[in-house]
Parts: sequence; C-alpha cells; structure tokens
Amino acid sequence: MLALMNSCGPFNKLLKLPIGSDALKRFKTNFNGHVVLPGDAEYEKLRRVRMWNPQSDKHPAIIAQCKNEQDILRCIDFAHQHHLEVAVRSGNHSFLGWGTTEGGLVIDLSKMKGVEFNPLKRTARVAAGTTSGEILAVTSQYGLAPVLGECGSVGAGLVLGGGLGWLSGKYGATCDNLISARVITAGGTSMTASENINPDLYWAIRGGGGNFGVATSFEYRLHPVREVIAGAYCYFQVMLMSKVNTPENILFIFTLCNYCRMFV
Ligand SMILES: Cc1cc2nc3c(=O)[nH]c(=O)nc-3n(C[C@H](O)[C@H](O)[C@H](O)COP(=O)(O)OP(=O)(O)OC[C@H]3O[C@@H](n4cnc5c(N)ncnc54)[C@H](O)[C@@H]3O)c2cc1C
Repeated sequence: MLALMNSCGPFNKLLKLPIGSDALKRFKTNFNGHVVLPGDAEYEKLRRVRMWNPQSDKHPAIIAQCKNEQDILRCIDFAHQHHLEVAVRSGNHSFLGWGTTEGGLVIDLSKMKGVEFNPLKRTARVAAGTTSGEILAVTSQYGLAPVLGECGSVGAGLVLGGGLGWLSGKYGATCDNLISARVITAGGTSMTASENINPDLYWAIRGGGGNFGVATSFEYRLHPVREVIAGAYCYFQVMLMSKVNTPENILFIFTLCNYCRMFV
C-alpha cells in the first residue's frame, strides 16, 4: 500500500535510490507497453498532467505506459525494489497533479483501452484507460449512457473520486453506478470488488480516491437517454478557459457545468 501512495504527506519523503542501468534495461526488456525515460522525445509532454498547475511540474524517473495487467505488476514490483514513489494515471485530468511524481514511477494506463458493451443488460465493462467520450461513443448507438465526466476526455476512473456527470441529477454520482471493478493491490494481487465480492474494497474505491490499488477495469450501469437539450455550450467554454487556470476561472467552469447540468 505504501508504494501506491502519491502526493500524500510523509510518503513524499520516501527514500529515492538511484536505479542502476542494468535494472532499467531489464525492466524495459520485459515490459509489453512503452517505457519513457528522461531524455526521450515524448518525456517532456508525458511528464506533465493535462491541466497545468505549478504543483504538478514534476520529473518522474520512469513513465510506464502499461499494455496489460502483467505490466502493472512489473511496475509495482520494480517500485517496491527501488523504493520509488508511484503515481497512477488514466485520463490524466487530476487538477492536483496526482498523475505525476518527482523522481518516482508513473503507472500510465491511458493505453489500456476497451469497452465490453452489453446492451441487453445495460452494462459496460471498460478498461481503465478508456475516456468518458470513448465509452459514450459505443453505448450511445443503443441510446444508452454511463454517468461519467461531462468532459469527454476525463478518464473512466473518475469514479475513484466519486464522479459527477450530465446524468447525475437523475441517476446519482458515477460511484453509485459502479457494478464492479478489477483492482491490483500494492501486494500484487488482482481481485474483483463488487457488492458481494470484497465488499470493503468496493466501498472504498467508490469515492475513496486512487490509493487502494491500481484499478484495471470498471463495470458500469448504463441508462437510457432519449433527448439531450443542452451540453455542448459548456464543453467549449471549458476548452477556452482551460488556457488560463486561475482559481477564479476553475470556479467559473464548475459553476457553468452545474448550470448546464440542470437542463439535461
Ligand atoms: C477538464 C476537466 C473536466 C472535468 N470534468 C469532470 C466532471 O465532469 N465530473 C467529475 O466528477 N470530475 C471532473 N473532473 C475532475 C476529474 O474527474 C478528476 O480529476 C478525476 O480524478 C480525473 O480522472 P482521470 O483518470 O482523468 O485523471 P488522472 O489524473 O489520470 O487520475 C487522477 C488520480 O486518480 C487516481 N487514479 C486514476 N486512475 C486510476 C486507476 N485506474 N487506478 C487507481 N488510481 C487511479 C490516481 O490517484 C490519479 O492520480 C474534470 C477535470 C478536468 C481537468
């Protein structure tokens, strides 16, 4: 559990040992996804969180773009061995910059995408790197929608912080619509969390934040949506305002979002 904590008080002070080049080479060789290191062409872009915040101007030692569960397990193991702080990211929208770390290891799930859609049961199981917009693109063909972020690029994992979306007025928060999740714990165990299986973990991940493990997929309840009266106005405002991230503007964005939500 320790190694998964990011940006949390005393855990920031974890001892950072130098990583030998042989160890790094072995890590890269066994990795199915893509490993980005300082000096690589993509590093400068990937080290940043999507919404700029001075607190998030950090330089991770490794950005590991995972392809599957084995990659995540390798990351956890490597972080334990080298006493690295871990940051987990999927949609990379954390205002607080939790998707990056100074000198640690970023477990980047943004390449783990996929939607298993069951229109009869009105459910969708989505891989952690799938965004709200990508899920809606699949389910909307059947007139169904999840309760996910209002902005299409927010990650499916927003449920870990609760999550509010266009349909929340009618169907509750995102976490009220989570049927189950697959989670890899800091000890390297992969488990299901649902109402009947590991109910404590299920309770914790529905709003308790990302520190209970690495979630690899989420199963969401879908709802019928026949008519959308408003929505796009808010999206464009967010894009415009995001260039100037003062606290006043962020407050303005959320006021506007809430105003628009009243019409859906
Ligand atoms: C432009 C914009 C629009 C937004 N709109 C909404 C909205 O409509 N509704 C709403 O509720 N919120 C909204 N938010 C806030 C956003 O939902 C939260 O910041 C959320 O945590 C983002 O999830 P993410 O996966 O995109 O971000 P990330 O930065 O990838 O994740 C944030 C943190 O959550 C944890 N985490 C993420 N994925 C995992 C995982 N798979 N396993 C374990 N831990 C994980 C990690 O601690 C991570 O650091 C918005 C944010 C922005 C910037």
